This record gives sequence, C-alpha cells and structure tokens, in this order.
Amino acid sequence: MEELKIAAQGQVSPQAQERFDRPRSGPKSQDCEHCSSTHCSSKERQHGESDEQFHERQALARKMCQIGYKLLVMSGKGGVGKSTVAANLATALALSGKSVGLLDVDIHGPSIPKLMGLDKDRVVVYDSEIVPIEIGESLKVMSIGFLLPSDADAVIWRGPMKYGVIRQFLKDVAWGPLDYLVIDAPPGTGDEPLSVAQLVGQPAGAVLVTTPQDLSVADVRRSVSFCQKVELPVVGIIENMSGLVCPHCQRTIDLFKSGGGEALARETGVAFLGRVPIDPQIVECGDAGVPYVHRCAGSPAAGAIRRIVEYLISVTKPDRPDGPRQ
Ligand code: ADP
Repeated sequence: MEELKIAAQGQVSPQAQERFDRPRSGPKSQDCEHCSSTHCSSKERQHGESDEQFHERQALARKMCQIGYKLLVMSGKGGVGKSTVAANLATALALSGKSVGLLDVDIHGPSIPKLMGLDKDRVVVYDSEIVPIEIGESLKVMSIGFLLPSDADAVIWRGPMKYGVIRQFLKDVAWGPLDYLVIDAPPGTGDEPLSVAQLVGQPAGAVLVTTPQDLSVADVRRSVSFCQKVELPVVGIIENMSGLVCPHCQRTIDLFKSGGGEALARETGVAFLGRVPIDPQIVECGDAGVPYVHRCAGSPAAGAIRRIVEYLISVTKPDRPDGPRQ
C-alpha cells in the first residue's frame, strides 16, 4: 500500500498526490441531509412496511446517498478478466484523484482480496460499522473474503442469504463519502447483480466486460438484456484480452479474435469503452497482488484502462451531497 503511494508520485496530479499523502482519518458516515433533493425516496414509509424495515431502508439510502456513482462491473462468462478490470478501474480512478470504494460481491469466488494484495487482511467492526480495508487515502475495499477464516473456505448460500449480505456490505460498511463505488459482481445475471441493482439506488450504471470471441459476446448480450430489465443503465462495454502484441516481432496476434465487443456495442446501441490487449504482466501483477495499472503504468493495456477511466469520469458525473471532485 505504501508502494502505491510512492509509485503514484510523478504519475498523478498534485491534487491526487495530496489525497494519497493525507493522514488516514476515515470519514465517518453521517445522516444525509440531501435525501429529499437527490435520488432517495427513503422519507416515505412504504405500504405494509414495519418500523424496523423502514429504518433499515433509510439507513441504506443514507449510505448510498453519500456515494457519487455506483459502477457495477459485470460479465456474461467467468475468466474474461472482469475482476481484473474492476480492480484496475478502481485503482485508476483513485490514482486520478477520486475517492473510491471497491466492493466484491462475488460471494462464491471472491478475487479482489488476492488481486489487491489483501488476501491476508481481515476486517473489524467499529461503532456498529464494518471498517473496510484502506489502500492509501483514496481506496477502500470490502469483500466476503475478509470475513472468511481462510482462503480455502467455501460459502454455500442461497439467494436470500446473498441478498442479505450484499445489503449489509452496502449499508453497514463505513464507506463514508465516495466519488465512486466499483462493484465486482460474479459472472452472469444471477442473485448478486440483481441484488446490487435493486439496492444501490441512483445514480448507478453497469460496465460490461467481454473477450472478443462469439462465445463470450453472446453471454454479454444477455447482460445487456438483464440491465434493461432491471433498469440499470449500461455505461458501456469493454473488450478485454483483445489482441496480443508479439514480444519478438511486435505484430498483433488476435488470439481470441478481435472486434466482438465493439460489434455488440454497436448492435445494442451502448457505448464501446475500448479494447484492453493481452499482457502477460497482467497475470503477473494479479498473482502478486499489485494493481497492474499502477505497476505497469506505461504499458498499452494500462493506457487503455486509463482512457476508459477518463471516459467514465466524463460521462458519470458523480452526484455527491458534498459536491463532486473534479
Ligand atoms: P473473471 O473475473 O472474469 O473471472 P479474472 O479477472 O479473474 O476473470 O481474470 C482471469 C485471468 O485472466 C487472470 O489470471 C487474469 O490475470 C487474466 N487476465 C485478465 N485480463 C487479462 C489481459 N488483458 N491480459 C492477460 N491476462 C489477463
């Protein structure tokens, strides 16, 4: 984590560096005075709602109102690099000066602790809130992995339990005010992305990750349809593992074809966010627990991720009670 701060020097704006250098204080969440003026309908009691349910819903809304934009990272298939993309988008957002939360809702296969080098960390509860793991001053991370006795432990839960824990991760974690909450969902259109879509409120959107070949693209088409059904805006599609530059002849080899993600974006009328090429260093960094976009900042793939982040910042316009950070 110290490494993140040091290597960030010279690559980020003075404003971003100042945010990394600031002492760790961890803003405590407060009652949101802006619920009525933003996207929150928590003031009204719903029909048949008990006191407890009403207060729970208000507590969740208060927490979500402190987050400028919730970004759900989804894929149709496993293994397309969704968690890698989520971890690197969150890191790149933090390095560009945003305050960011990274929430892993892949209950059965949490990858974020390993990818961020936090697999030995465990969270504590303080003042009735779960304290997320902090990386520098700008990045807070939460995963079911931080609650398990060991990496080898399996979680065997059905839908309602998963909904309950995701709700807790949103409501009971001390996120504090954030510009972005990046949420890494498991592949597919099951309980986890559905729970997130139902709970996070607005403003929120989905980033869909695919590899270029038809098999993966077909599944992401289903993710687009899922987002339409649950009324979650699709911010755009990322084509990951898009071409490999041969280290010997420098020619690009389209290992998994190329252009499938872009073609799907055109077909479904959503934005194409860009292509991230294959880079063996991404695997090295993932296994070493160091965000690639940070360690290999000069690489073409890191450049592609940074351009995607610039686009995301320009289109999402975080809406925070205390004002967005530009
Ligand atoms: P998912 O979350 O979709 O299951 P992961 O993020 O776990 O996928 O990535 C699967 C594997 O692919 C990991 O070993 C990761 O390092 C690797 N990977 C992801 N993106 C790339 C890329 N652009 N180039 C090379 N390897 C990649």
